[in-house]
Amino acid sequence: MGTFAGRPLVVVTNREPYVDETTRTGIRHVQRAGGVVSALDPLLREYGGDWVAWGSGTADRLTAPGGVRPVPLKNPRYRLHRVYLSAEEVQGYYTRFANQGIWPLSHMLIERARFSRRAWSVYRAVNLKFARRVARESRPTALVFSHDYQLALVPSLVRQLRPDLAIAHFWHIPWPVFTVLRLCPQYQEILRGLLGADVLGFQTPDDVESFLTSVQRSFRHVSVDHRRGYIQWQGRTIAVKTFPISVDIAAIEETVATPRVTRWSNGIRRHFARNSRQLGVSVDRADYTKGIIPRLEALHEFFNRYPQHRGQVSFLQVVVPTRSEVSAYRTLFRQVEQETYRINQAFATTDWTPVITIRRSLDRPRLMGLFRAADFGLVSSLFDGMNLVAKEFVSAQIDRRGVLLLSETAGASLELDQALTVSPWDPEGFAQVLDLALSMPLEERRQRMQAMQQHLHQHTLYDWATDILSTLDEMVQNYVES
Ligand code: UDP
Repeated sequence: MGTFAGRPLVVVTNREPYVDETTRTGIRHVQRAGGVVSALDPLLREYGGDWVAWGSGTADRLTAPGGVRPVPLKNPRYRLHRVYLSAEEVQGYYTRFANQGIWPLSHMLIERARFSRRAWSVYRAVNLKFARRVARESRPTALVFSHDYQLALVPSLVRQLRPDLAIAHFWHIPWPVFTVLRLCPQYQEILRGLLGADVLGFQTPDDVESFLTSVQRSFRHVSVDHRRGYIQWQGRTIAVKTFPISVDIAAIEETVATPRVTRWSNGIRRHFARNSRQLGVSVDRADYTKGIIPRLEALHEFFNRYPQHRGQVSFLQVVVPTRSEVSAYRTLFRQVEQETYRINQAFATTDWTPVITIRRSLDRPRLMGLFRAADFGLVSSLFDGMNLVAKEFVSAQIDRRGVLLLSETAGASLELDQALTVSPWDPEGFAQVLDLALSMPLEERRQRMQAMQQHLHQHTLYDWATDILSTLDEMVQNYVES
Protein backbone atom coordinates (compact mmCIF):
# COMPACT_ATOMS: atom_id res chain seq x y z
CA MET A 1 0.00 0.00 0.00
CA GLY A 2 1.73 3.16 -1.22
CA THR A 3 1.61 6.57 0.37
CA PHE A 4 2.99 10.04 -0.16
CA ALA A 5 3.33 12.09 3.06
CA GLY A 6 1.07 9.51 4.67
CA ARG A 7 -1.63 9.76 2.00
CA PRO A 8 -2.49 7.09 -0.58
CA LEU A 9 -1.56 8.05 -4.12
CA VAL A 10 -3.86 7.62 -7.13
CA VAL A 11 -2.50 8.42 -10.61
CA VAL A 12 -4.93 8.89 -13.51
CA THR A 13 -3.85 8.95 -17.15
CA ASN A 14 -5.35 8.14 -20.51
CA ARG A 15 -2.58 5.74 -21.55
CA GLU A 16 -1.67 2.80 -19.40
CA PRO A 17 1.97 2.08 -18.57
CA TYR A 18 1.79 -1.55 -19.69
CA VAL A 19 -0.31 -2.89 -22.53
CA ASP A 20 -0.85 -6.64 -22.71
CA GLU A 21 -1.16 -7.97 -26.25
CA THR A 22 -2.17 -11.41 -27.48
CA THR A 23 0.38 -12.93 -29.85
CA ARG A 24 0.65 -16.36 -31.47
CA THR A 25 3.16 -17.43 -28.85
CA GLY A 26 1.34 -16.03 -25.80
CA ILE A 27 0.81 -12.69 -24.10
CA ARG A 28 3.33 -9.93 -24.68
CA HIS A 29 3.70 -7.12 -22.11
CA VAL A 30 4.51 -3.93 -23.93
CA GLN A 31 5.79 -0.85 -22.18
CA ARG A 32 4.37 2.26 -23.82
CA ALA A 33 6.49 4.90 -25.50
CA GLY A 34 5.42 8.45 -24.64
CA GLY A 35 6.45 11.19 -22.28
CA VAL A 36 3.71 10.99 -19.68
CA VAL A 37 3.87 7.31 -19.00
CA SER A 38 7.63 6.98 -19.10
CA ALA A 39 7.74 9.69 -16.43
CA LEU A 40 5.12 8.25 -14.08
CA ASP A 41 5.94 4.56 -14.03
CA PRO A 42 9.20 5.01 -12.05
CA LEU A 43 7.31 7.29 -9.68
CA LEU A 44 4.64 4.75 -8.76
CA ARG A 45 7.23 1.99 -8.58
CA GLU A 46 8.92 4.11 -5.96
CA TYR A 47 5.87 5.20 -3.89
CA GLY A 48 3.42 2.43 -4.75
CA GLY A 49 -0.32 3.14 -5.04
CA ASP A 50 -3.04 2.94 -7.68
CA TRP A 51 -3.10 3.94 -11.35
CA VAL A 52 -6.33 4.34 -13.31
CA ALA A 53 -5.95 4.23 -17.11
CA TRP A 54 -7.61 3.09 -20.33
CA GLY A 55 -7.11 -0.65 -20.85
CA SER A 56 -6.29 -0.65 -24.55
CA GLY A 57 -4.49 -3.97 -25.13
CA THR A 58 -6.01 -7.07 -26.73
CA ALA A 59 -5.02 -9.21 -23.73
CA ASP A 60 -5.72 -6.56 -21.10
CA ARG A 61 -8.78 -8.28 -19.68
CA LEU A 62 -6.90 -11.56 -19.36
CA THR A 63 -4.12 -10.14 -17.22
CA ALA A 64 -6.42 -7.98 -15.08
CA PRO A 65 -9.01 -10.09 -13.26
CA GLY A 66 -11.68 -7.70 -11.98
CA GLY A 67 -10.04 -4.92 -14.01
CA VAL A 68 -6.94 -4.78 -11.79
CA ARG A 69 -3.45 -5.71 -12.96
CA PRO A 70 -0.45 -5.77 -10.64
CA VAL A 71 2.66 -3.95 -11.91
CA PRO A 72 5.10 -5.52 -12.35
CA LEU A 73 3.43 -8.91 -12.53
CA LYS A 74 6.12 -10.42 -10.33
CA ASN A 75 6.76 -8.59 -7.04
CA PRO A 76 4.11 -5.91 -7.73
CA ARG A 77 4.81 -2.33 -6.76
CA TYR A 78 1.42 -0.83 -7.64
CA ARG A 79 -2.06 -1.66 -8.97
CA LEU A 80 -3.21 -0.70 -12.46
CA HIS A 81 -7.01 -0.25 -12.72
CA ARG A 82 -8.11 -0.59 -16.31
CA VAL A 83 -11.03 1.41 -17.73
CA TYR A 84 -12.37 -0.36 -20.81
CA LEU A 85 -13.70 1.71 -23.69
CA SER A 86 -15.87 0.76 -26.68
CA ALA A 87 -14.73 1.56 -30.23
CA GLU A 88 -17.21 4.48 -30.32
CA GLU A 89 -15.86 5.85 -27.06
CA VAL A 90 -12.27 5.67 -28.28
CA GLN A 91 -13.26 7.40 -31.49
CA GLY A 92 -15.20 10.28 -29.89
CA TYR A 93 -13.13 10.86 -26.77
CA TYR A 94 -9.60 10.05 -27.84
CA THR A 95 -9.27 10.22 -31.60
CA ARG A 96 -11.62 13.10 -32.22
CA PHE A 97 -12.09 15.46 -29.30
CA ALA A 98 -8.69 15.02 -27.66
CA ASN A 99 -6.37 14.35 -30.61
CA GLN A 100 -8.10 16.24 -33.41
CA GLY A 101 -9.43 19.03 -31.21
CA ILE A 102 -7.54 19.94 -28.07
CA TRP A 103 -4.12 18.67 -29.20
CA PRO A 104 -3.70 20.88 -32.30
CA LEU A 105 -5.42 23.82 -30.57
CA SER A 106 -3.05 23.66 -27.60
CA HIS A 107 -0.10 23.58 -29.98
CA MET A 108 -1.69 26.58 -31.68
CA LEU A 109 -1.92 24.79 -35.02
CA ILE A 110 -5.48 25.96 -35.42
CA GLU A 111 -6.04 24.88 -38.99
CA ARG A 112 -5.74 21.28 -37.91
CA ALA A 113 -8.29 21.54 -35.09
CA ARG A 114 -11.76 19.99 -35.54
CA PHE A 115 -14.56 20.04 -32.97
CA SER A 116 -18.03 18.53 -32.89
CA ARG A 117 -20.77 18.31 -30.29
CA ARG A 118 -21.02 14.58 -30.73
CA ALA A 119 -17.32 14.10 -30.00
CA TRP A 120 -17.64 16.45 -27.05
CA SER A 121 -20.48 14.48 -25.46
CA VAL A 122 -18.45 11.25 -25.76
CA TYR A 123 -15.42 13.02 -24.29
CA ARG A 124 -17.51 14.11 -21.33
CA ALA A 125 -19.01 10.64 -20.82
CA VAL A 126 -15.59 8.97 -20.88
CA ASN A 127 -14.19 11.51 -18.44
CA LEU A 128 -17.09 10.61 -16.15
CA LYS A 129 -16.25 6.93 -16.51
CA PHE A 130 -12.68 7.63 -15.41
CA ALA A 131 -13.88 9.84 -12.54
CA ARG A 132 -16.24 7.12 -11.25
CA ARG A 133 -13.43 4.61 -11.24
CA VAL A 134 -11.18 7.02 -9.36
CA ALA A 135 -13.95 7.72 -6.85
CA ARG A 136 -14.42 3.98 -6.32
CA GLU A 137 -10.75 3.03 -5.99
CA SER A 138 -9.53 5.96 -3.85
CA ARG A 139 -9.17 5.45 -0.15
CA PRO A 140 -10.05 8.36 2.18
CA THR A 141 -7.57 11.28 2.20
CA ALA A 142 -6.00 10.07 -1.06
CA LEU A 143 -4.06 12.43 -3.30
CA VAL A 144 -5.36 12.15 -6.85
CA PHE A 145 -2.82 13.04 -9.53
CA SER A 146 -4.59 13.26 -12.89
CA HIS A 147 -3.04 14.12 -16.23
CA ASP A 148 -3.29 15.96 -19.45
CA TYR A 149 -5.68 17.03 -22.14
CA GLN A 150 -7.62 13.78 -22.48
CA LEU A 151 -8.89 14.07 -18.92
CA ALA A 152 -9.57 17.77 -18.45
CA LEU A 153 -12.95 17.17 -16.80
CA VAL A 154 -11.74 14.57 -14.32
CA PRO A 155 -10.83 17.06 -11.55
CA SER A 156 -14.32 18.58 -11.26
CA LEU A 157 -16.10 15.24 -11.79
CA VAL A 158 -14.03 13.54 -9.09
CA ARG A 159 -14.66 16.48 -6.76
CA GLN A 160 -18.42 16.12 -7.24
CA LEU A 161 -18.27 12.40 -6.47
CA ARG A 162 -15.69 12.53 -3.68
CA PRO A 163 -15.31 15.97 -2.10
CA ASP A 164 -12.93 14.46 0.47
CA LEU A 165 -10.14 13.84 -2.06
CA ALA A 166 -7.30 16.23 -2.87
CA ILE A 167 -6.71 16.65 -6.60
CA ALA A 168 -3.73 17.84 -8.65
CA HIS A 169 -3.93 17.92 -12.42
CA PHE A 170 -0.87 18.31 -14.62
CA TRP A 171 -1.23 19.67 -18.16
CA HIS A 172 1.70 18.24 -20.14
CA ILE A 173 1.22 20.09 -23.40
CA PRO A 174 1.31 23.85 -24.03
CA TRP A 175 -1.65 25.95 -22.89
CA PRO A 176 -2.81 28.12 -25.80
CA VAL A 177 -3.25 31.87 -25.60
CA PHE A 178 -6.84 32.86 -24.85
CA THR A 179 -7.62 34.08 -28.37
CA VAL A 180 -6.80 30.57 -29.62
CA LEU A 181 -8.43 28.66 -26.75
CA ARG A 182 -11.67 30.48 -27.47
CA LEU A 183 -11.92 28.73 -30.84
CA CYS A 184 -12.92 25.56 -29.00
CA PRO A 185 -16.72 25.74 -28.60
CA GLN A 186 -16.52 24.00 -25.21
CA TYR A 187 -13.60 25.99 -23.80
CA GLN A 188 -15.53 27.18 -20.75
CA GLU A 189 -16.50 23.63 -19.80
CA ILE A 190 -12.87 22.59 -20.14
CA LEU A 191 -11.78 25.40 -17.85
CA ARG A 192 -14.51 24.51 -15.34
CA GLY A 193 -13.42 20.89 -15.46
CA LEU A 194 -9.82 21.77 -14.63
CA LEU A 195 -10.82 24.20 -11.91
CA GLY A 196 -12.09 21.24 -9.90
CA ALA A 197 -8.45 20.61 -8.94
CA ASP A 198 -6.65 22.05 -5.89
CA VAL A 199 -3.39 22.33 -7.81
CA LEU A 200 -2.97 22.86 -11.55
CA GLY A 201 0.49 22.31 -12.96
CA PHE A 202 1.94 23.49 -16.26
CA GLN A 203 5.33 23.16 -17.95
CA THR A 204 6.32 26.80 -18.35
CA PRO A 205 5.54 30.25 -16.92
CA ASP A 206 4.00 31.20 -20.29
CA ASP A 207 1.53 28.32 -19.98
CA VAL A 208 0.59 29.41 -16.47
CA GLU A 209 0.10 33.00 -17.57
CA SER A 210 -2.05 31.97 -20.55
CA PHE A 211 -4.16 29.77 -18.30
CA LEU A 212 -4.70 32.49 -15.69
CA THR A 213 -5.65 34.96 -18.41
CA SER A 214 -8.03 32.41 -19.94
CA VAL A 215 -9.82 31.97 -16.61
CA GLN A 216 -9.98 35.69 -15.94
CA ARG A 217 -11.38 36.44 -19.38
CA SER A 218 -13.93 33.61 -19.25
CA PHE A 219 -15.72 34.04 -15.94
CA ARG A 220 -17.08 36.97 -14.01
CA HIS A 221 -17.12 35.58 -10.49
CA VAL A 222 -13.51 34.64 -10.22
CA SER A 223 -10.48 36.27 -8.73
CA VAL A 224 -7.08 35.68 -10.26
CA ASP A 225 -3.81 36.51 -8.55
CA HIS A 226 -1.35 36.54 -11.46
CA ARG A 227 1.67 37.27 -9.37
CA ARG A 228 1.28 34.46 -6.85
CA GLY A 229 -0.57 32.05 -9.13
CA TYR A 230 -3.83 31.58 -7.22
CA ILE A 231 -7.42 31.47 -8.37
CA GLN A 232 -10.43 31.95 -6.08
CA TRP A 233 -13.32 30.05 -7.57
CA GLN A 234 -16.60 28.92 -6.04
CA GLY A 235 -15.29 29.33 -2.49
CA ARG A 236 -12.07 27.40 -3.09
CA THR A 237 -8.46 28.37 -3.74
CA ILE A 238 -6.62 26.75 -6.64
CA ALA A 239 -2.84 26.98 -6.98
CA VAL A 240 -1.68 27.34 -10.60
CA LYS A 241 2.05 26.84 -10.94
CA THR A 242 4.94 25.86 -13.18
CA PHE A 243 6.38 22.38 -12.59
CA PRO A 244 8.69 21.50 -15.50
CA ILE A 245 8.63 17.72 -15.89
CA SER A 246 11.99 16.00 -15.89
CA VAL A 247 13.81 12.68 -16.17
CA ASP A 248 15.55 10.28 -13.82
CA ILE A 249 19.08 11.17 -14.87
CA ALA A 250 20.76 8.83 -12.37
CA ALA A 251 18.80 5.85 -13.73
CA ILE A 252 19.68 6.80 -17.31
CA GLU A 253 23.38 7.16 -16.46
CA GLU A 254 23.30 3.75 -14.86
CA THR A 255 21.54 2.19 -17.86
CA VAL A 256 23.94 3.57 -20.44
CA ALA A 257 26.99 2.48 -18.46
CA THR A 258 25.97 -1.22 -18.34
CA PRO A 259 28.14 -3.54 -20.47
CA ARG A 260 25.18 -4.49 -22.67
CA VAL A 261 24.20 -0.89 -23.52
CA THR A 262 27.86 0.11 -23.88
CA ARG A 263 28.29 -2.67 -26.47
CA TRP A 264 25.18 -1.50 -28.34
CA SER A 265 26.35 2.09 -28.22
CA ASN A 266 29.85 1.19 -29.46
CA GLY A 267 28.30 -0.91 -32.20
CA ILE A 268 26.29 2.08 -33.40
CA ARG A 269 29.42 4.22 -33.49
CA ARG A 270 31.39 1.58 -35.38
CA HIS A 271 28.66 1.40 -37.94
CA PHE A 272 27.59 5.02 -38.37
CA ALA A 273 30.47 7.11 -37.00
CA ARG A 274 33.51 5.34 -38.47
CA ASN A 275 36.41 7.30 -39.97
CA SER A 276 35.65 10.36 -37.81
CA ARG A 277 32.23 10.74 -39.34
CA GLN A 278 29.80 12.41 -36.92
CA LEU A 279 26.47 10.87 -36.00
CA GLY A 280 23.33 12.89 -35.39
CA VAL A 281 20.18 11.40 -33.89
CA SER A 282 16.58 12.39 -33.44
CA VAL A 283 13.73 10.49 -31.80
CA ASP A 284 10.12 11.51 -32.22
CA ARG A 285 6.64 10.16 -32.46
CA ALA A 286 5.60 10.87 -36.05
CA ASP A 287 3.61 13.91 -34.95
CA TYR A 288 3.23 17.14 -36.93
CA THR A 289 4.09 19.17 -33.81
CA LYS A 290 7.61 17.68 -33.77
CA GLY A 291 8.76 19.57 -36.85
CA ILE A 292 10.16 16.48 -38.60
CA ILE A 293 9.53 17.76 -42.12
CA PRO A 294 11.04 21.23 -41.43
CA ARG A 295 14.06 19.44 -39.96
CA LEU A 296 14.49 17.34 -43.08
CA GLU A 297 14.15 20.47 -45.19
CA ALA A 298 16.86 22.06 -43.09
CA LEU A 299 19.09 19.02 -43.62
CA HIS A 300 18.58 19.29 -47.35
CA GLU A 301 19.53 22.93 -47.15
CA PHE A 302 22.54 22.01 -45.02
CA PHE A 303 24.02 19.50 -47.46
CA ASN A 304 23.40 21.96 -50.27
CA ARG A 305 24.99 24.94 -48.60
CA TYR A 306 27.85 23.13 -46.91
CA PRO A 307 29.11 20.50 -49.34
CA GLN A 308 32.23 20.00 -47.19
CA HIS A 309 30.04 18.08 -44.72
CA ARG A 310 28.83 15.56 -47.28
CA GLY A 311 30.12 12.15 -46.35
CA GLN A 312 31.21 13.53 -42.96
CA VAL A 313 27.94 13.26 -41.06
CA SER A 314 25.16 10.69 -40.85
CA PHE A 315 21.79 11.32 -39.42
CA LEU A 316 19.77 8.57 -37.77
CA GLN A 317 16.12 9.36 -37.20
CA VAL A 318 13.81 7.23 -35.10
CA VAL A 319 10.27 7.98 -36.22
CA VAL A 320 7.72 6.14 -34.13
CA PRO A 321 4.30 5.49 -35.70
CA THR A 322 1.58 7.11 -33.61
CA ARG A 323 -2.17 7.87 -33.74
CA SER A 324 -2.47 6.11 -37.09
CA GLU A 325 -6.28 6.35 -36.76
CA VAL A 326 -5.97 10.08 -37.58
CA SER A 327 -5.37 10.66 -41.28
CA ALA A 328 -3.05 13.65 -40.73
CA TYR A 329 -0.64 11.28 -38.97
CA ARG A 330 -0.67 8.70 -41.76
CA THR A 331 -0.01 11.46 -44.27
CA LEU A 332 2.88 12.77 -42.18
CA PHE A 333 4.50 9.35 -42.04
CA ARG A 334 4.45 9.17 -45.84
CA GLN A 335 5.83 12.71 -46.14
CA VAL A 336 8.74 11.80 -43.87
CA GLU A 337 9.56 8.91 -46.18
CA GLN A 338 9.37 11.13 -49.25
CA GLU A 339 11.46 13.91 -47.75
CA THR A 340 14.09 11.42 -46.57
CA TYR A 341 14.19 9.82 -49.99
CA ARG A 342 14.68 13.25 -51.58
CA ILE A 343 17.78 13.93 -49.45
CA ASN A 344 19.28 10.50 -49.93
CA GLN A 345 18.58 10.60 -53.65
CA ALA A 346 20.35 13.95 -53.95
CA PHE A 347 23.42 13.33 -51.80
CA ALA A 348 24.06 9.64 -51.01
CA THR A 349 27.23 7.99 -52.31
CA THR A 350 28.18 4.30 -52.59
CA ASP A 351 29.45 4.18 -49.01
CA TRP A 352 27.40 6.91 -47.33
CA THR A 353 23.69 7.43 -46.66
CA PRO A 354 22.94 10.88 -45.21
CA VAL A 355 19.65 9.96 -43.47
CA ILE A 356 18.83 6.54 -42.04
CA THR A 357 15.35 5.95 -40.64
CA ILE A 358 14.17 3.54 -37.97
CA ARG A 359 10.39 3.32 -38.28
CA ARG A 360 9.49 1.78 -34.96
CA SER A 361 9.85 2.41 -31.27
CA LEU A 362 12.99 1.29 -29.45
CA ASP A 363 13.06 0.06 -25.89
CA ARG A 364 14.55 2.43 -23.36
CA PRO A 365 18.02 0.85 -22.98
CA ARG A 366 18.55 0.90 -26.76
CA LEU A 367 17.21 4.40 -27.04
CA MET A 368 19.49 5.68 -24.28
CA GLY A 369 22.43 3.81 -25.84
CA LEU A 370 21.69 5.56 -29.12
CA PHE A 371 21.73 8.93 -27.36
CA ARG A 372 25.04 8.05 -25.75
CA ALA A 373 26.54 7.18 -29.13
CA ALA A 374 25.56 10.42 -30.82
CA ASP A 375 27.72 13.43 -31.69
CA PHE A 376 24.67 15.62 -31.84
CA GLY A 377 20.97 15.40 -31.08
CA LEU A 378 18.24 17.24 -32.90
CA VAL A 379 14.93 18.37 -31.40
CA SER A 380 12.99 20.61 -33.73
CA SER A 381 9.42 20.80 -32.37
CA LEU A 382 7.12 23.51 -33.73
CA PHE A 383 5.62 23.64 -30.24
CA ASP A 384 6.19 21.18 -27.42
CA GLY A 385 5.09 21.16 -23.79
CA MET A 386 8.50 19.98 -22.56
CA ASN A 387 10.14 17.37 -24.83
CA LEU A 388 11.58 14.65 -22.64
CA VAL A 389 13.76 13.36 -25.45
CA ALA A 390 15.92 16.48 -25.11
CA LYS A 391 16.45 15.84 -21.40
CA GLU A 392 17.08 12.14 -21.99
CA PHE A 393 19.65 12.94 -24.64
CA VAL A 394 21.58 15.12 -22.20
CA SER A 395 21.28 12.50 -19.44
CA ALA A 396 22.62 9.70 -21.62
CA GLN A 397 25.68 11.65 -22.84
CA ILE A 398 28.07 10.24 -20.26
CA ASP A 399 31.03 10.59 -22.65
CA ARG A 400 30.06 14.24 -23.21
CA ARG A 401 30.90 14.27 -26.87
CA GLY A 402 27.51 15.47 -28.08
CA VAL A 403 25.89 18.79 -28.89
CA LEU A 404 22.17 19.32 -28.44
CA LEU A 405 20.30 21.36 -31.03
CA LEU A 406 16.98 22.37 -29.53
CA SER A 407 13.98 24.26 -30.72
CA GLU A 408 13.26 27.38 -28.68
CA THR A 409 9.55 26.58 -28.75
CA ALA A 410 9.99 23.34 -26.78
CA GLY A 411 9.50 23.81 -23.02
CA ALA A 412 12.88 22.13 -22.39
CA SER A 413 14.73 25.08 -23.94
CA LEU A 414 14.10 27.18 -20.81
CA GLU A 415 16.22 24.84 -18.73
CA LEU A 416 18.65 23.36 -21.27
CA ASP A 417 20.20 26.72 -21.96
CA GLN A 418 23.53 25.30 -23.13
CA ALA A 419 21.90 23.72 -26.15
CA LEU A 420 22.25 25.41 -29.51
CA THR A 421 18.95 27.00 -30.45
CA VAL A 422 17.39 26.06 -33.76
CA SER A 423 14.11 27.10 -35.32
CA PRO A 424 11.97 24.79 -37.44
CA TRP A 425 10.61 27.97 -39.02
CA ASP A 426 14.05 28.98 -40.33
CA PRO A 427 15.70 26.26 -42.48
CA GLU A 428 18.69 28.40 -43.50
CA GLY A 429 19.40 29.37 -39.90
CA PHE A 430 18.97 25.74 -38.85
CA ALA A 431 21.57 24.64 -41.41
CA GLN A 432 23.96 27.30 -40.13
CA VAL A 433 23.63 26.11 -36.53
CA LEU A 434 24.24 22.54 -37.67
CA ASP A 435 27.47 23.67 -39.29
CA LEU A 436 28.46 25.38 -36.05
CA ALA A 437 27.64 22.29 -33.98
CA LEU A 438 29.74 20.00 -36.15
CA SER A 439 32.79 22.18 -35.78
CA MET A 440 32.39 22.81 -32.04
CA PRO A 441 35.57 21.83 -30.13
CA LEU A 442 35.31 18.87 -27.78
CA GLU A 443 36.12 20.99 -24.73
CA GLU A 444 33.19 23.32 -25.35
CA ARG A 445 30.89 20.35 -25.94
CA ARG A 446 31.98 18.89 -22.61
CA GLN A 447 31.39 22.09 -20.71
CA ARG A 448 27.96 22.66 -22.16
CA MET A 449 26.88 19.08 -21.59
CA GLN A 450 28.19 19.07 -18.05
CA ALA A 451 26.28 22.25 -17.17
CA MET A 452 23.02 20.79 -18.46
CA GLN A 453 23.61 17.48 -16.70
CA GLN A 454 24.20 19.31 -13.48
CA HIS A 455 20.87 21.08 -13.90
CA LEU A 456 19.10 17.76 -14.47
CA HIS A 457 20.71 16.27 -11.36
CA GLN A 458 19.22 19.16 -9.41
CA HIS A 459 15.79 18.93 -11.06
CA THR A 460 14.86 15.28 -11.40
CA LEU A 461 11.64 13.52 -12.19
CA TYR A 462 11.21 12.83 -8.50
CA ASP A 463 11.60 16.52 -7.67
CA TRP A 464 8.89 17.29 -10.23
CA ALA A 465 6.45 14.79 -8.75
CA THR A 466 7.35 15.63 -5.18
CA ASP A 467 6.91 19.36 -5.81
CA ILE A 468 3.42 18.87 -7.22
CA LEU A 469 2.30 16.42 -4.56
CA SER A 470 3.80 18.48 -1.71
CA THR A 471 2.05 21.59 -3.04
CA LEU A 472 -1.18 19.59 -3.09
CA ASP A 473 -0.59 18.29 0.43
CA GLU A 474 0.05 21.86 1.65
CA MET A 475 -3.08 23.20 -0.03
CA VAL A 476 -5.19 20.56 1.69
CA GLN A 477 -3.53 21.16 5.06
CA ASN A 478 -4.32 24.86 4.73
CA TYR A 479 -7.98 24.03 4.16
CA VAL A 480 -8.16 21.88 7.21
CA GLU A 481 -6.48 24.60 9.27
CA SER A 482 -8.52 27.55 7.95
N1 UDP B 1 10.27 6.83 -26.45
C1 UDP B 1 10.52 5.47 -26.28
N2 UDP B 1 10.83 4.72 -27.38
C2 UDP B 1 10.86 5.25 -28.63
C3 UDP B 1 10.61 6.62 -28.78
C4 UDP B 1 10.31 7.39 -27.67
O1 UDP B 1 10.50 4.96 -25.15
O2 UDP B 1 11.15 4.54 -29.59
C5 UDP B 1 10.01 7.68 -25.26
C6 UDP B 1 11.12 8.70 -25.05
O3 UDP B 1 12.21 8.10 -24.40
C7 UDP B 1 10.43 9.77 -24.23
C8 UDP B 1 8.99 9.71 -24.74
O4 UDP B 1 8.87 8.48 -25.45
O5 UDP B 1 10.47 9.47 -22.86
C9 UDP B 1 8.63 10.87 -25.64
O6 UDP B 1 8.39 11.99 -24.83
P1 UDP B 1 8.46 13.48 -25.37
O7 UDP B 1 8.16 14.39 -24.23
O8 UDP B 1 9.78 13.74 -26.03
O9 UDP B 1 7.33 13.60 -26.47
P2 UDP B 1 5.80 13.08 -26.56
O10 UDP B 1 5.86 11.82 -27.36
O11 UDP B 1 5.30 12.88 -25.16
O12 UDP B 1 5.08 14.17 -27.30
